[in-house]
Amino acid sequence: MHDVVIAGAGPVGLFLACELGLAGCSVLVLEREPEARSPWKADPLGMRGLSAASVEAFYRRGMLRSLWKESGVDHDPGTEELSSPRGVGHFAGMMLDPAKVDTAALPFRLPGPATEAMMTNLEAVETVLSGQAATLGVEVRRGVAVSGFVQDEEGVTVRAGEREYAARWLVGCDGGRSTVRRLAGFDFVGTEPQFTGYVVLATIADPEKLRPGFNLTPTGMYLRPAEKYVGMLECDGGAFDRSQRPTREHLQAVLRRVSGSDVTLSEIHLASSFTDRAMQTTTYRQGRVFLAGDAAHIHSPLGAQGLNLGLGDAMNLGWKLAATVRGYAPQGLLDTYTRERHPIGAAVLAWTRAQAAVMRPDPHAQAVQELIHDLIETRDVTTYLHKKISGSSNRYDLGSDHPLVGRNAPDFRLEDGTRLGDLMANGKGVVFDFGGGRSLQDSALGWENRLHYAAGPAGNDLGLGAVLIRPDGIVAWAGDRVPDPEAFERAAGRWFGRPAT
Ligand SMILES: Cc1cc2nc3c(=O)[nH]c(=O)nc-3n(C[C@H](O)[C@H](O)[C@H](O)COP(=O)(O)OP(=O)(O)OC[C@H]3O[C@@H](n4cnc5c(N)ncnc54)[C@H](O)[C@@H]3O)c2cc1C
Repeated sequence: MHDVVIAGAGPVGLFLACELGLAGCSVLVLEREPEARSPWKADPLGMRGLSAASVEAFYRRGMLRSLWKESGVDHDPGTEELSSPRGVGHFAGMMLDPAKVDTAALPFRLPGPATEAMMTNLEAVETVLSGQAATLGVEVRRGVAVSGFVQDEEGVTVRAGEREYAARWLVGCDGGRSTVRRLAGFDFVGTEPQFTGYVVLATIADPEKLRPGFNLTPTGMYLRPAEKYVGMLECDGGAFDRSQRPTREHLQAVLRRVSGSDVTLSEIHLASSFTDRAMQTTTYRQGRVFLAGDAAHIHSPLGAQGLNLGLGDAMNLGWKLAATVRGYAPQGLLDTYTRERHPIGAAVLAWTRAQAAVMRPDPHAQAVQELIHDLIETRDVTTYLHKKISGSSNRYDLGSDHPLVGRNAPDFRLEDGTRLGDLMANGKGVVFDFGGGRSLQDSALGWENRLHYAAGPAGNDLGLGAVLIRPDGIVAWAGDRVPDPEAFERAAGRWFGRPAT
């Protein structure tokens, strides 16, 4: 019997497998596709934007250098100086100017190697995660599709191919058309599409007829991120029948309509379609079965958020499930997964809906577009939009008034050079005791197999005396200049269970 079976070796399934493997759980990943490689995962079709929070997740597990290498980043983009973000993306195709972000208004930033978003592709992400999973003893079986399961109080029996696999827990990371979601009967609710989108790798006979970059037009949008790569959205109410492969004639007709040009697609190499159908399960858990990533939520790629959202799910669920498997999870810990992640998913769905609404080809939406065009000229609006896109405004409600609690911890660094990111590579929580008195040392001993204690003055302690950080990098507790050991012990017990006696 495995501790956990994961359906799907996409980026979310693999990241979760690494989290569980790091904590010493036995993990089996069952993947439908026999081959890991696919042109859909490599550049240009597999290009994906990773938010700073996702980049930081790789940093905190010691995988950032490999990710840079696999993504073709040939220099160390990390910074010891905080500056304006290099790229801030777009809202409904309207590009934001990084120089207009008010960095002083961004919450709790400290310098570190992972303060910037980056471009990568699915192949790079999966290569790094597969390598890490192998190192951690995770077993990945390819060419086996999960087709059924039964669960009882003791565990789950998963059917895939001709075989059955026993596990204590099952996690469906099997993408937007999740079999696990369907079989378990999760409610999947949301809104129907307004547009059909296409990603196309094509030979374009007369590329000069298309403008570079993002182009918002009266009937939708098109973009050309790379030479043969065209992305298009047509506001057709999602009318295209996605069970069919789009033909060259259809794709050319759509491109002509959305670009208003008579451009010719002479050959289609690869093409697929998507919509902005935005759906989310009402809970991410049913008994011994969880969902993470696209299996739990689907939405349009506007704003480049789906992968980041899924990696956030994996980071949130991994240590909680591992603590449960290992037997030290406090009561109710697993329920915090849905409680914390569902609102973040709902906010991303709302964000993509807002963009779809202002892209509609009607005079009302176009009036709003003009308004937003003016507004994004202001620092306040660009800063607000950047916080939303980057996820830096995300905060879990952990019941504390302290503004740092519930947020992603910045990369605290002690004067002796000890960095939060490096301390987190083993997947444990961290307590920093910044005061001179090591006042939390005795208390922290009780959790020493789950928590790393580090003491000493920090280059910038943000005015705190101590801080407790969960394995997913979220601040669980922030102590005053003279931290109260009892308050620390309550917080540690809440997230890390009973102290060892
Ligand atoms: C055009 C486009 C651009 C995008 N750009 C971005 C971006 O820039 N940034 C961003 O954050 N997101 C982006 N996204 C979204 C992002 O790609 C997805 O959210 C992300 O890949 C989801 O990862 P996942 O692991 O949950 O699912 P998937 O990547 O779909 O992986 C699911 C895995 O499960 C396997 N599987 C399916 N069924 C079974 C089964 N029954 N048994 C076993 N295995 C199964 C599949 O083969 C697959 O390997 C984009 C999406 C699109 C379409």
